Amino acid sequence: MSGKFVTIDSRSVFMGGPGQGGGGAAGGNVLTEVGAEKVGKFESQYLGGLRDKEVAAAFDKDGEQIFRTSGSTDMVKFQEYQIAQMQDSILTHNHPVTGGSFSDSDIRLAIRGNVAEIRAVGSDGMGNHYAYSMTRPPDGWGPKEKYVGILGPASDTVKDKLWGEIKAGRMSPSMAEFNHNHETMKIIADAMGWNYSKKKIKVGFW
Ligand SMILES: [Zn+2]
Repeated sequence: MSGKFVTIDSRSVFMGGPGQGGGGAAGGNVLTEVGAEKVGKFESQYLGGLRDKEVAAAFDKDGEQIFRTSGSTDMVKFQEYQIAQMQDSILTHNHPVTGGSFSDSDIRLAIRGNVAEIRAVGSDGMGNHYAYSMTRPPDGWGPKEKYVGILGPASDTVKDKLWGEIKAGRMSPSMAEFNHNHETMKIIADAMGWNYSKKKIKVGFW
């Protein structure tokens, strides 16, 4: 073990190691019907109710688990071998603290690990749970540099809009915080040609 790792969702984002170039192999590999059911169960019955730590798991398209790893309340670290293993996988994790959509480090990891799909489960703190998904298009994620160039301006545009909502009394600061990444991801997906979705899910056993 070289000791190199990549962290997602930490407030002090650290992207370790060289070779973070994006792009990579193309290919669909979205979940099969059976796979979607298995990953969906994992998310609703386990990840959705998990508050004390962040957990990430990679699955193949049939929903067979490739690896699972856990971190602290607001971050997960990945070793280099896990980043290699997540190629073409469906990588899901929970957001116990922020509850909202993907962080910058999530997207960087998706590009670097060249996953087929990255997913996150979060809550708005008012009993509503959501599954977020960003899917790699057939021609690949594209260059990381393009994503990085779009992120800042997209985030600023959303911040301005949300501040306007707060000042007008139409949105609470905590709801603006919750919505920020989601609104930013919509702009990014559009500009990058990625497929982004946010779906309300049920959490717990049923
Ligand atoms: Zn995340």
